[in-house]
Amino acid sequence: MTAHRYSLAYAQERDREDPLRKFKSRFYFPKVNGEEAIYFCGNSLGLQPKAVKEYLERDLDSWATKAVDGHFDGEEPWFSVHERSKAALAEIVGAKKHEVVAMGSLTSNLHALMVSFYQPDGKRNKILTEAGAFPSDMYALETQVKHHGLDPSEAIVEVAPRQGEHTIRTEDILQAISTHKDELACVMMAGLQYYTGQVFDMKAITKAGHEAGALVGFDLAHAVGNAPLRLHDWVVDFAAWCSYKYLNSGPGNVAGIFVHERHGDNPKLNRFAGWWGHDEKVRFKMEKGFVPMYGADGWQTSNGNVLGMATHQASLDIFKEAGMEALRQKSVQLTGFLEYLIREISGGSGVLEIITPSAEVERGCQLSLLIHKGGKTVFDEFYRNGIVGDWRNPNVIRIAPTPLYNSFEDVFRFAKILEQSLAKFT
Ligand SMILES: *Cc1c(COP(=O)(O)O)cnc(C)c1O
Repeated sequence: MTAHRYSLAYAQERDREDPLRKFKSRFYFPKVNGEEAIYFCGNSLGLQPKAVKEYLERDLDSWATKAVDGHFDGEEPWFSVHERSKAALAEIVGAKKHEVVAMGSLTSNLHALMVSFYQPDGKRNKILTEAGAFPSDMYALETQVKHHGLDPSEAIVEVAPRQGEHTIRTEDILQAISTHKDELACVMMAGLQYYTGQVFDMKAITKAGHEAGALVGFDLAHAVGNAPLRLHDWVVDFAAWCSYKYLNSGPGNVAGIFVHERHGDNPKLNRFAGWWGHDEKVRFKMEKGFVPMYGADGWQTSNGNVLGMATHQASLDIFKEAGMEALRQKSVQLTGFLEYLIREISGGSGVLEIITPSAEVERGCQLSLLIHKGGKTVFDEFYRNGIVGDWRNPNVIRIAPTPLYNSFEDVFRFAKILEQSLAKFT
């Protein structure tokens, strides 16, 4: 017999049937008040896979025993360290291997890509983005525009939610692209909005952007390893992401980029180049005249951070083993369960509101809760009870149950604590 949905028995039953349940034990969990926390903050910093030490040790050993010869000797020489992650990243973002590379850090990579994909030309000089974008992205766009001698208040077009709404309608984004079709050089926005949890229709936006004569790119910081992505098929021109959120690769670790193969050797694109993007067959001739590698590799500037790549790989191998499709399937169920429980608890009371879209295709694992009463005291009570989520001013709590290391029981226990906190503080 199936237990009632709002019960611990139901949650535990779902966990028993979960084909991915074994992965939880592959991660370290932080402690709150001496007890293992329920961690819903993978949208900010993913947990450490226990295998990280072993992966790191391999490269630490090479460094200790081979030193400079580690670049060319051994099973996985550092010269091709950027090759290690390609297959896994390609699967996660829906790309071909030569379209992706792990490198640098997110905001720096965005700048490098904007140098190529934002080339204002006369009247066609605008960038379209979402209002309320992550600050780093806003600053990147502002300064890119200024770098070309333009005024951000004129050159940046922001699409905002309608009055009284929290998320942005696809039709409004497409309309804005069409309205500015003679002036748009580039569309650069989030794939999944960090504050509201909304997944944008990247396929439709890319198509509309191309019809308007613009190039289209996405910041996938919150989408990678979380939402389904088919960058190659959607003909997205470029994308960038970080690896320390859902990709569980460690604070500040190596990021990644996507460049569609139609730009694989596009000579019209400007670049700020470095030696690691130079044709590797002649890289060590150390001669003048930059000749880019084909594909995303041609955007590399520096030699790869080997220790960071090792940590990254420990996590990517888990993704490969679990499979993005299975992860997404569980994620939809887990977040659906969370949504159901929150609605049961808050009912029509008006104390809180889920601002993340309820349609599956319009969200990843995160739900953003707008707290109308009780505010931060409700959130602080969560923490006292061992729940790690995150608070965004003025009054949003983001809860991100991840399919790799969260269970249905975690979600149920959170709901119980939410119910008690609301009773206490509202
Ligand atoms: C997390 C995040 C960043 C962080 O940028 P770093 O360069 O890695 O510090 C930037 N943009 C978005 C949208 C993010 O979610």
